[in-house]
Amino acid sequence: ATAEKAVTTPFITAGASPAVATTDKRASAVLVILARNREASGLRSSLKQLEQRFNHKYHYPYVILNDEPFDDLFKETVDAVVSGNVSYGLIPKEHWSYPPWIDRHKAAAGRKKLQDVLYGSSESYRHMCRFNSGFFFHHPLLAQYDYYWRVEPDVDFTCNIEYDPFVYMQERDLKYGFNIAFHETSATVTTLWETTKQFMAQHPEYVSHPNTLEWVVDKRTGDYNMCHFWSNFEIASLNLLRSERYQAYFDHLDQAGGFFYERWGDAPVHSLAAAMFLRKDEIHFFEDIGYRHSVFENCPAGLTVNLQNCDCNPKRNVNAQDHSCTPDFLRLDPRSDFNITTMKQN
Ligand code: GDP
Ligand code: MN
Repeated sequence: ATAEKAVTTPFITAGASPAVATTDKRASAVLVILARNREASGLRSSLKQLEQRFNHKYHYPYVILNDEPFDDLFKETVDAVVSGNVSYGLIPKEHWSYPPWIDRHKAAAGRKKLQDVLYGSSESYRHMCRFNSGFFFHHPLLAQYDYYWRVEPDVDFTCNIEYDPFVYMQERDLKYGFNIAFHETSATVTTLWETTKQFMAQHPEYVSHPNTLEWVVDKRTGDYNMCHFWSNFEIASLNLLRSERYQAYFDHLDQAGGFFYERWGDAPVHSLAAAMFLRKDEIHFFEDIGYRHSVFENCPAGLTVNLQNCDCNPKRNVNAQDHSCTPDFLRLDPRSDFNITTMKQN
């Protein structure tokens, strides 16, 4: 409350209190949201918490995207709760439709095959995953920014965030920040790993050394172990996604068609890209950001954040559980440099 006063009261000069000083510095960053008109109240709930926990001190802008135009009710609902400038953007048709090389019959057969899997029979979900994998960062409304924080409707931010995660990333040259990691439903990514290995074989020059591939490979079989960062929360570099190598990776995947024939998620795609292109010390676990999405949450209360500043139960912290991939990530050697062709650690 004091910090909020310091920012809005004209009688206090900048630098008069530490709270003012810390809010001076800003990264070139944006809060990015993909949403539908019917999710207005769910998004309001997420944004009220994000503002209260963080953005009321920083006023970072929002870019909110949709494959259909937002209606007035949606905009009024969002505008009422945010402290930063909001831009509403329409997604170009080419970024949310079938590319010409996709066989629609094969896609329909793929949906039928996955009908018992979550979103397995949904076409729109596939367009969404492909958009988040390959296109959102090309939207003109994001062109001016270096970092993004992805936010969704109906999530909870459960702890006060007492610093600027964007500035934190920038000062340490971090490229990708996550909050929850665990295993993907394997039926949705049957050929993703094969296709990714093909890409690495064709473009060895794009793979970094050291890298974090060890985190995603089952060392006994050489297969994908299904570990991925959960991408509904991401604080990351837009320049990473706009890079030549990421673009080449996405194009390779898109040509293979698994976004439609299977149900490749943007979470495993971003994660495999991070594994190929980033060192461990370029990836950050935001363990102090309390966050809940559906049944999973990261709750740092009493661990890295004062219990009184949180509204969550640390016993439910998914990152501390066996099926999470976070402990494996944290255990990884920072110099780890896995070579996929020899299956050897260098
Ligand atoms: P889940 O997190 O995997 O269960 O999937 P969600 O239903 O939460 O979708 C992920 C994100 O994409 C959310 O921000 C949704 O609002 C958004 N989204 C999903 N489908 C669509 C769609 O058809 N159109 C638009 N505009 N946004 C969508
Ligand atoms: Mn969601």
